Amino acid sequence: MKIKKNNNTHDVLTANFYKGLEVCPICKFSDVQSLMPVFQCPIYHVVEPNTHITKSFFGKMEICECNRCGHIFNAGFDASRSEEIYKSQIPTNVPVDISMTAGLKDTVSFVKPDSSTDNVLEIGGGSGDLARLFAATSKSVTIIEPGLPDSFEFHKPENLKVRRQMFPEPNINYNADLVVLRQVLEHVVHPIEFLTAAIKGLRMGGKFYLEVPRLEYIIENISPVDLHFMHVHYFSEKILKRIFFKLGLSILNRREVKDGHDVGYLLEKTTKIEDKFIEPETRNVVSNWGINFQNKIDLGREKIISISKKRVGLYGACAYSQSLTGFYQSLFAPLVAIDDAAQYDGKKIFWDGGSCPAKLPTKKAIEGLEVIIITAYLHDRVITKKLRNLGFKGDIFSARADSLAGRNGHPNSIFEAT
Ligand SMILES: [Zn+2]
Repeated sequence: MKIKKNNNTHDVLTANFYKGLEVCPICKFSDVQSLMPVFQCPIYHVVEPNTHITKSFFGKMEICECNRCGHIFNAGFDASRSEEIYKSQIPTNVPVDISMTAGLKDTVSFVKPDSSTDNVLEIGGGSGDLARLFAATSKSVTIIEPGLPDSFEFHKPENLKVRRQMFPEPNINYNADLVVLRQVLEHVVHPIEFLTAAIKGLRMGGKFYLEVPRLEYIIENISPVDLHFMHVHYFSEKILKRIFFKLGLSILNRREVKDGHDVGYLLEKTTKIEDKFIEPETRNVVSNWGINFQNKIDLGREKIISISKKRVGLYGACAYSQSLTGFYQSLFAPLVAIDDAAQYDGKKIFWDGGSCPAKLPTKKAIEGLEVIIITAYLHDRVITKKLRNLGFKGDIFSARADSLAGRNGHPNSIFEAT
């Protein structure tokens, strides 16, 4: 394989090396195995309403496992389009509900900012809400994020600096006391190189907060919609720990977020670098992956077919909707995708063979719907309440595949046997 180099400062992120990933992005081994049948997904969660949908709006999902280090990733991901795809989906971090803002507060209290973390650097800060919270307790905060809304600058605290770019330039020494990287690494084509650049911005002994989705959650619960086009990587905690060793990051603390869906590590930058992440026991973390996921996707298909004559809406113009429409393609024709993000209102979601508008949750938007599938399943309980308060009387399903489905106010799963 030929590796093409250029002088673009975004090299590490966009990595215009090849179409699709032919080697393991963690250990660079070229022997990888496919875990399940390849499928096509919409590559954007929303587009402008007048967009003409062509083939180029779909991307390949090819979930593979590295035969050396055991890392799992989407080898079908088109690295040459990663910047464009990443930029298109940044606002999905906007807190749409009080529980999400509380989650950000929990993050701050977990990191415990104090006089040793005066200078904070947040990379890929999404909406900027977390950076704002850090600004209240720290001397200075820099946020590196190309997709911040324009309005962000009008009412930002003075000690909060904004850099609208994709990622920290390797030649700038930010000398931060704390680097925050939340829900970013799984989107980045070359995570080791990206982390190396991020760590450069951190002083020796400084703290690093990293939060990513857990592969263990996806495997334990066989959660189909967590396999989606926005994520290039599915990090297991074993792989994460080996990456930390390799980069000289020692673990200070760990926590699970969103009922174990994600994991957050508080790390410290040290000079101890141990390259030992290629160990045989990390391999084959998955058995029967293909069969297990296919069975679950098939259960979902039965459910989708059983409601196909009804007027169906989705809740969540998000990556999970992309996944669902990817699995079921033309079986699927939702009439609307409800979403709390105001900037999606009036745009549209699409799938192979159709599209529907994204709308804010109002009485009018859900009028006439008989079934709503909550694809934004991490918030399915709050959303169910919201829908009932809006007067929705029809059936509600969730794209949730874990054991919370159908209990304690969580709706039944679309992936459950009927
Ligand atoms: Zn590997």
